[in-house]
Amino acid sequence: MTSFEAQRIAGLAQSDIRLMSRRCMELGGVNLGQGICDQPTPDPVKAAAIAAITGDESIYSKYEGIDELRRRIAHKMSDYNGVSCDPDSEVLVTAGSTGGFVAAALSFIEPGDEVILFSPFYGYHMNVLRLAQPTLKSVTLRGADFSFDPDELRAAFSDKTKAILVNTPSNPCGKVFTRDELSLIAELCQQHDCLAITDEIYEYILYDGHEHLSLASLPGMRERTITLSGFSKTYNMTGWRLGYAVAPAALTARMGVVADLVYICAPTPLQHGVLAAFDLPAQYYVDMARDYERKRAQTMQACRAVGLEPLVPQGSYYLMVDVRGAGLRDDRHAADVLLQHCGVAAVPGSSFFTDPSDGRHQLRLCFAKQDHDLQRACDGIAQLPQALRDARP
Ligand code: GLN
Repeated sequence: MTSFEAQRIAGLAQSDIRLMSRRCMELGGVNLGQGICDQPTPDPVKAAAIAAITGDESIYSKYEGIDELRRRIAHKMSDYNGVSCDPDSEVLVTAGSTGGFVAAALSFIEPGDEVILFSPFYGYHMNVLRLAQPTLKSVTLRGADFSFDPDELRAAFSDKTKAILVNTPSNPCGKVFTRDELSLIAELCQQHDCLAITDEIYEYILYDGHEHLSLASLPGMRERTITLSGFSKTYNMTGWRLGYAVAPAALTARMGVVADLVYICAPTPLQHGVLAAFDLPAQYYVDMARDYERKRAQTMQACRAVGLEPLVPQGSYYLMVDVRGAGLRDDRHAADVLLQHCGVAAVPGSSFFTDPSDGRHQLRLCFAKQDHDLQRACDGIAQLPQALRDARP
């Protein structure tokens, strides 16, 4: 059969994240699969978006986003991330942080380039990169603290390295990169004259004293780092599709041209709405982190009770668990049993690893749920031993 498909999409398919959401919807389960974060958006943000729609802020914005939003983002970048930037030339408002990542990948990566990423990774990172057709090199995160072997990282760099991708706090394992780790990455990026692309979307969701550090704030890195973040996770608005990229002016300008071609601009009334998020009190972030800490504890406890052993996340709102102690064969078996018999969707671990067998005993659970849903999910998880007994021939 003739295939009309371009080489750049060879092998791409719907992600397991989305697949599990679809199956969960069909079966009416609780979705701990996709990181949809279905808690309420803060009221002032909703009100500001409604006012913008009522006030007919309905036309395209500049492709880089409305001025006031870029100004507020630049302020936050300096305040929270320790990265100073010019709001007019170094900030690009994007359609979700994914929009920024697509713009970066299409603007700077091409066949023949090498790009380094850590495994486990967020599948969209890997697959967006694949659209740009570089050679991908992966460095494995290992052990309870998800650390990597510095020599493995050094060996991954070459004179073809165009970029390294750093996701901190990370999806799916919740690793928060330390200053030492980021310093080594910074040193290697400068030595090999390559870019760093960071995804910092979970930057406010941190546990156990772990601190968020932006690679761009380290000496020598501002001029070679594209920092991606967004509003989805911090303000519970994953469907608004609002994110941003912060990078040196020359890079931002190129990404802006590409973002314009791909989607023109991020939704204008929502850009106005999200301005209100910058006026939320500092306590908002403290409460959010505390709330996730509680949800993390609740989910880990429910998992441990049935032999799903947590790999304790340092940040983000995902939890990887090892399924072997629960008497489950592998990740697919675990995801099937949990969804069909316990009414809980989770994502099979193998979809997050360069070598899928590294994740074949893991599942990813997202605990960014409203309390009653999380409780239902934990009750479902508690049914696992009985479900396995019933399933036995
Ligand atoms: N970032 C979220 C996750 O990892 C949502 C991703 C998505 O829907 N593609 O689940």
